[in-house]
Amino acid sequence: MTTRPPGFSTIAIHAGATPDPATGARATPIYQTSSFVFDDVDHAASLFGLQAFGNIYTRIGNPTCAVLEERVAALEGGTAALAVASGHAAEHLVFHTLLEPGDEFIAAKKLYGGSINQFNHAYKKFGWNVVWADSDDLSTFEKAISPRTKAIFVESIANPGGVIVDIAAIARIADKAGVPLIVDNTMASPYLIRPFEHGAHIVVHSLTKFLGGHGNSIGGIIVDGGKFDWIKSGRYPSLSQPRPEYGNMILGETFGAFGFAIACRVLGLRDLGPALSPFNAFLILNGIETLPLRMQRHCDNALVVAQHLSTHGQVDWVSYPGLPGDRYHNLAKAYTPKGAGSVFTIGLKGGYDAGVKLVTNLKLFSHLANIGDTRSLVIHPASTTHRQLTDEQKRIAGAGPEVVRLSIGLEDTADLIDDLDQALAA
Ligand SMILES: *Cc1c(COP(=O)(O)O)cnc(C)c1O
Repeated sequence: MTTRPPGFSTIAIHAGATPDPATGARATPIYQTSSFVFDDVDHAASLFGLQAFGNIYTRIGNPTCAVLEERVAALEGGTAALAVASGHAAEHLVFHTLLEPGDEFIAAKKLYGGSINQFNHAYKKFGWNVVWADSDDLSTFEKAISPRTKAIFVESIANPGGVIVDIAAIARIADKAGVPLIVDNTMASPYLIRPFEHGAHIVVHSLTKFLGGHGNSIGGIIVDGGKFDWIKSGRYPSLSQPRPEYGNMILGETFGAFGFAIACRVLGLRDLGPALSPFNAFLILNGIETLPLRMQRHCDNALVVAQHLSTHGQVDWVSYPGLPGDRYHNLAKAYTPKGAGSVFTIGLKGGYDAGVKLVTNLKLFSHLANIGDTRSLVIHPASTTHRQLTDEQKRIAGAGPEVVRLSIGLEDTADLIDDLDQALAA
């Protein structure tokens, strides 16, 4: 037997899954049950006291979700993972585990719009304060560090698409400040970027996008990189203080390299409750089996479409790091050698009206607010997600009146190009 570790495609299909011990079923079954029978009173007591691993209640863990957790942890090269109801729930449980009221975290300005809202508004109510920095100017991260800083948050490929973030450089700033770097790896997926290899400490995903990949389920996941020393730091009470409800156990000590994932589960998920449905976990697992194939085709298609649009008479600019000459092309060569993702923006010479006309006239592209589907998707942020902002605010957010965002799917590129050409000509 070889001792070589399995390759990425093998992990995508097999990690975490064995034939079902009860039935021999080869595909991972959907364990559609809310709770699990205890062997006896002692078994129940050891499960509740975290002295034994096992199933209690699907809010806290479920065997179908557990396969998904092991699979994504393996794909990212992390120690453990926790699957939850949505990408936003994953972000929320990470911060709930790290922050106390009055604490701060630093976040890159270019983020998924929903995360910007979550950080600016919802988190204020918890007393968690976001300080914004600019991933194109790393000194803004250094300047934002304060004694209350508890974490740094960035996206690997950042919204609204076409921005590659220098994870290793930001990880060095986090290390110096003694705080974990959290990377939202949704747009890249571990097929393109594995943030732990660049020094990140925690990875989160919206499983809704490329990992699920078929636009059919909402889900999220937290992956523990296992390298942050919570005990030595002593600044994260959820991990370094005794937990009275678990017999004064210190989670960061007892569970070591997967203490963070455990704390998110046995404190955050237990008490806040955003559990993933086993049915959604099953659909997302099926999606992940073809992640390497899909992701490569997404990138290859996006490059062909971006190249075509960059020579189109109605298009002012194309922001895709896969194109030579793009501002992020060198970072893309370093971080995403297999391809620069499938989401990017274009600017139309005809401004706002041209954006509205394009989304109206496209037939194969679906006009909606999502990314990472097998289907190609389009949105004109100025008339939809960013409608309420002033023109100046839209421009700062990368959503000026002329901007259209494309998420390139797995169709034939000739058909995508025909559709774009007819809609731009209309
Ligand atoms: C969609 C998305 C989220 C939020 O995920 P949901 O599953 O919609 O809650 C977070 N980050 C990024 C980069 C996303 O694209």
